Amino acid sequence: MVRRELPDYPSETSSASFTGANPVSHPSRGASMNSAAEPAPTYRTGFHIGGRWVSPLGTDEISVENPATEQVIGRVPAGTAADVDRAVAAARAAFPGWAALAPTERAAHLERLHRRLTARAGEIAHTVACELGTPLKIAARVQAGLPLTVLDSYVTLAASPPEEETVGNSLVVREPVGVVGAITPWNYPLHQVVAKVAPALAAGCTVVLKPAELTPLVAYLLFDAVDEAGLPPGVVNLVTGTGPVAGAALAAHPGVDMVSFTGSTATGTQISRLAADRIARVSLELGGKSANIIFEDADLAGAVKVGVGNAFLNSGQTCTAWTRMLVHRSRYDEAVDLAGKAAGGYRLGDPFDPATRLGPLVSAGQRERVRGYVERGLAEGARLVTGGLDAPVPDTGYFVAPTVLADVDPDSTVAQEEIFGPVLAVIPFDDDDHAVAIANNSKYGLAGAVWSGDQDRAVAVARRLRTGAVDVNGGAFNPLAPFGGYKQSGVGRELGAHGLAEFLEVKSIQR
Ligand code: ADP
Repeated sequence: MVRRELPDYPSETSSASFTGANPVSHPSRGASMNSAAEPAPTYRTGFHIGGRWVSPLGTDEISVENPATEQVIGRVPAGTAADVDRAVAAARAAFPGWAALAPTERAAHLERLHRRLTARAGEIAHTVACELGTPLKIAARVQAGLPLTVLDSYVTLAASPPEEETVGNSLVVREPVGVVGAITPWNYPLHQVVAKVAPALAAGCTVVLKPAELTPLVAYLLFDAVDEAGLPPGVVNLVTGTGPVAGAALAAHPGVDMVSFTGSTATGTQISRLAADRIARVSLELGGKSANIIFEDADLAGAVKVGVGNAFLNSGQTCTAWTRMLVHRSRYDEAVDLAGKAAGGYRLGDPFDPATRLGPLVSAGQRERVRGYVERGLAEGARLVTGGLDAPVPDTGYFVAPTVLADVDPDSTVAQEEIFGPVLAVIPFDDDDHAVAIANNSKYGLAGAVWSGDQDRAVAVARRLRTGAVDVNGGAFNPLAPFGGYKQSGVGRELGAHGLAEFLEVKSIQR
C-alpha cells in the first residue's frame, strides 16, 4: 500500500496528564484495595490519529476512576468535534489504500496486531480490573482473553472474505462500506472495541474509535499494539471524549459511512437519528433482559448455578445477562432456594484479591441506578431472597450485594427494564407456552437460555424465543456465531463471518 501524506497534525504526545495505574510496571499488583492509588508512572495520552499520537485541540479532560477504590487513576482528553474531524480525515485518507490491499495482506496486519496485543494480555486484564473493577482472574479470561480470541478469528476471516457470486448475467461483488465510526461502552471495554475494529479492518474499512468515557484506558494499550504492529497510518484512529460531544460528532459526521455502536438502547436511538440524516449505515448492539427458562425435567442444580453465574458476570453489567430466571412451578421453590444460596455465596471485594468473585459497579451513578431498581422491585411486590440494600458490602467502592428477587411479576419494572447490576428476578411458569410467553414479553430480544432433560424440547422452545441467541443446556459461547439482537436489542450482527458482512456493501455488475 502507498503510504499517504496526511494532514500535518501536532506531533507527539500531549502533556503527561494521563497518570494511571501502569500495567507495565505492576502487572500483578497485589491485594490491597488502595493499590491503584499508589504513585504510578505515566502512560500515553492524547489521540491516535493518522498513525501518530497527537495533542487534543481542546483542554478539557475526563477523569477515570477506579470503582473499587473511588480514586482517580487517570485522565484522558475530552475530544471535541474538531478532533473528530481530524480523525475522520485521517481515516478517509487511509481508506482507498487499505481497501485496495489484498485480503491476505490485511490478514497479515491483523495477525501482527494479534501478536502484539497478546503480549499485553496481562496489562489488559490489569487495566480493566482498575478502570472497571472486574476481578482480575475473570478479567484475564473475559476482558483480555475474549477480545484476543475474536481478533484471532478475524485474522482467518480477513484472509478469506465472502466469495463473489454469479447470479444470471450479474457478477455480485462485495466492497468495504468505507469509514466506520465505532462508539463503544464500558462494560467489556476492549472486547466491544475489537468486535468492531477487527471485522471492519478485515473488510477493508478504516475506523475512528470513540471508547467509553468511564473506561477509556485499555484502548491506549490497543493503540500501542497498533503502533508496534505497524498498521498503515490512519486505518484505525482513537479519539477519547464524552458521548454527547465526541460521540455525537462522530455519529453525525458526513465523512463517516457507517456507525457501529454498542451501548444503551436510549443512546442507540439517538445515534440512529444522527445517522439517519445522511442515511449512514448503522449497526447497533443494545440492551437486553434475557430469560433463562428452566423446565421441570432439567438438571436443576446445574441450571440454577450456571444461571446465577451468567446473571452476575461482570457484576451483572453484561447485555446478554440472563436476568430473568423462569422456573417451572413444580420446581420453583427449590430453584429459588438454590439461587439464593448461590448468590449469597458470591464474595464481594477487591478485584485484585483472588478470592473475589464480584467486583463493584462501574460508577457511583450506576450503583445508585441499581439500588433504585432493587427498591422499586420490592415496592412492586417482589420478595427479597438474598442481598438487597441492607446487605453488607465493602465501605469503599461502588458495591451492590448480589440480590435475588422472587415472585417477580413479569410485567413489573424489574422484569422489564435492563438493570445492569447483580440483580436476578425469579418468575414461575406453568407450561411451555407460558414460559415462551413470559420470555417474549420484553421489548428486548438479545439472548436467553433453555434447560431441559429433553434436548429436542429445549431446542424447540429455543426456536420460539424472539432473541438473537439462545443457549441450550449450557451450550458454550461460540465466538464465531453471529451475535446481536431482535427488537430493541439492536440492528445487525457482530462476530464471525456475519460480523464481517456488516462492513461490506454489495454490488451487482451486469454483463
Ligand atoms: P451507558 O448509559 O451505559 O453509559 P451509553 O449507551 O450512554 O451507555 O454509552 C455507550 C457509548 O455511547 C459511550 O462511548 C458513550 O460515550 C457514547 N454516547 C453516549 N451518548 C452519546 C450520544 N448522544 N451520541 C453518541 N455517542 C454517545
